[in-house]
Amino acid sequence: MRRIVALSGGVGGARFLRGLVRATDPAGLTVVGNVGDDVEVLGLHVSPDLDSILYALGGVADEERGWGRADETWVAFGEAVRLGGEGWFSLGDRDLGLHLVRTQALARGEPLSAVTARLANAFGIEATLLPATDDRLRTWVDTPAGSFPFQEWFVARRHGDEVDLVRFEGEDAATPAPGVVEAIEHAELIVICPSNPFISIWPILAVGGIREALERRAAPCVAVSPLVGGRAIKGPADRMLQRLAGGTDPGRVATCYRGVIDVLVFDESEADAAPGVELQGARPVAAPTLMHDEVAAAELARTVLTAVD
Ligand code: GDP
Ligand code: CA
Repeated sequence: MRRIVALSGGVGGARFLRGLVRATDPAGLTVVGNVGDDVEVLGLHVSPDLDSILYALGGVADEERGWGRADETWVAFGEAVRLGGEGWFSLGDRDLGLHLVRTQALARGEPLSAVTARLANAFGIEATLLPATDDRLRTWVDTPAGSFPFQEWFVARRHGDEVDLVRFEGEDAATPAPGVVEAIEHAELIVICPSNPFISIWPILAVGGIREALERRAAPCVAVSPLVGGRAIKGPADRMLQRLAGGTDPGRVATCYRGVIDVLVFDESEADAAPGVELQGARPVAAPTLMHDEVAAAELARTVLTAVD
């Protein structure tokens, strides 16, 4: 059994993790999930990235819609909106069930990591899923139109505003959830999933002690680029990279992870970008990175697993 730690955002990371658990023994896998996206909706604590991972690894994700649960219905949410409740962030009925359980647990003082472990268990997930922190950490974006809490920019404003700066409220006080640093220290391989560097991975690295644990890692760390041919499959990663790093080539992705990665896996269509990746101190590995199905995701996972052999 190979001990692996994977840092993950939501949908892109979860898609990769589905492949990873096909390619390696999930009992050795610890996933560290982003919580900078967490948000209170209709009084409930929602952890979108942890939930994407739970639903993907639990085999209940809606593959077509690309987020949320399969066989979802929207009765409770529709009624809440009809009664004047907030309607900017959709919550399906099955999804709501999870948020009720999590919110009640948090309200009676259970740490997020503990309730996440119970939920993972209930979904029959073999891998260990840890939030980066049990403390309150919230991503903010500064844009020409003002500063917004992450979900207000991402969902309500449909990430239309360009981003000048990403900030993490609570980063100074946040400490790693129990087990995160230990998992990194004992890992044989560390993986950064094909997630948005700025809003999915940086909030994990912002938690005091996690970046340091990665910087002094004994195990190699392999990141997978979330861009294919300079474009994000979905979401604002390409626009953010262009504005915040000055371009969208794999070398620019590598700059986001300077000091914490040894290898960058990026798409074979960009093979000529290898020297730019090397300049950033990472070994370039060009390979197919488009996860059009679970088999392709497992193949990408195998590329990552063998990149350091
Ligand atoms: P979010 O938290 O739900 O936004 O999800 P992540 O941050 O984990 O993932 C979003 C990123 O996944 C986007 O930048 C996409 O470009 C990337 N992504 C989605 N599908 C694929 C794919 O098939 N291959 C690669 N390389 N990246 C992907
Ligand atoms: Ca997210």
